[in-house]
Amino acid sequence: MNMKFERPRGTRDFSPEDMKSRDFLFQTMVQVFESYAYNHIETPVFENLELFTAKSGDEIVEHLYTFKDKSERDLCLRPEMTASVARMYANGLVHSRKPLKLYYFGPMYRYERPQKGRYREFWQMGAELMGASSLESDAEIICLASDCMDKLDLKYNLRLSHLGVLRGILSDSGVDEKTQDKALGCIDRDEAEELKKIVDFQLISPLLGLSADSSKGFKEFSDVVLSSIKSFPSALKAFEELKAVMGLIQSLGKEFTVDLGMSRGLAYYTGMVFDISVEGLGAQNQVCGGGRYDKLIELFGGPPTPAVGFAFGFDRLGEALKIQEKPVDVKGVDVIVVPVGDDVRAESFKIARDLRQAGLASDYDLMGRKLKDVLSFASSAGIKYAVIVGPRELKDGEIVLRDMSSKKEKRVKIKELTRQF
Ligand code: AMP
Repeated sequence: MNMKFERPRGTRDFSPEDMKSRDFLFQTMVQVFESYAYNHIETPVFENLELFTAKSGDEIVEHLYTFKDKSERDLCLRPEMTASVARMYANGLVHSRKPLKLYYFGPMYRYERPQKGRYREFWQMGAELMGASSLESDAEIICLASDCMDKLDLKYNLRLSHLGVLRGILSDSGVDEKTQDKALGCIDRDEAEELKKIVDFQLISPLLGLSADSSKGFKEFSDVVLSSIKSFPSALKAFEELKAVMGLIQSLGKEFTVDLGMSRGLAYYTGMVFDISVEGLGAQNQVCGGGRYDKLIELFGGPPTPAVGFAFGFDRLGEALKIQEKPVDVKGVDVIVVPVGDDVRAESFKIARDLRQAGLASDYDLMGRKLKDVLSFASSAGIKYAVIVGPRELKDGEIVLRDMSSKKEKRVKIKELTRQF
């Protein structure tokens, strides 16, 4: 009996056509990451479960793909990569030259209810900057993410904040770090009632709805914030840092919103946080999220190390390219070699190999089709040239080169063929 299999829920297959736009996205972003001197790394797709429960607690388990291996170890598929990179740092990279500038790309797994823009298997491309605590390192990370969007020619909204403002108010009022983490989680999920149960809501409520836009200036906003936080020195210090980072990215001509009610789902963040969203993506419109996490490496057994980073939701970026109708610039196939008759197949096969060695992306008619059929295949596949190998021309050491768009043909010496492109 034949069987039919479906993909697991929340996963996708990617056709060659899909992969063209994904590869374009990847290559364009790599150029930006490398222009900022970031280096590519990889880590395992599965990790010890504890790596994720250590900071986020057991509540995170229901959102993870967890399993036991044959030696009864508790493992999980990674839901994101910051924890893995911090672990990798604590395990060995700690001895590398500082600051460490790293970027990664890979699949992540979250046990979530699938919907538009939300998958159980999805890809992230992100950067981590470790060992630097300067305000320029916060600004660099934000600019790196926003330059990726600019390079892709995408319209977007950049939003930033500093968790030290909310945390500062809470810690100066004697609220411990664990409770602060919980409070920030409630703010992120818009759970006001829950928030009121764990902290004195009056302390932070004036800031939660406060935001301002770079196009209108920050004077009025700044005055209101300063008056609400004047008796909290830690919050004041954080707000000064935020203003300095804002100044740096404004000096590069970036537009953004500051939103003090912004929080981030992950419990790692300690300072500046930001996200990038794209209109038209529906409910899941956030394409990037990041921030400073100065305590994570220490939690994983490393020395205290400042760190800042972000992750792009790669799949949502691909969707943004589609809805904003951005052309995907991919290198296609240059040539197809077509033998006309069985006698010239061996020689044609060799010509295709020579073209490949000369750096041309070359196809060869593997199916023994009629010339007419191969030419119509080549034009529908967008192949630029056909090298037609006929017995008569071959006797003179020549082939016929056909330009597929102009349909012009000319005889060319095989020895001179690679010089024609
Ligand atoms: P996070 O690690 O939650 O800060 O997410 C960083 C980015 O990854 C988000 O801004 C999204 O673009 C993307 N992302 C997160 N979860 C999913 C998901 N389930 N499916 C697709 N993209 C996701």
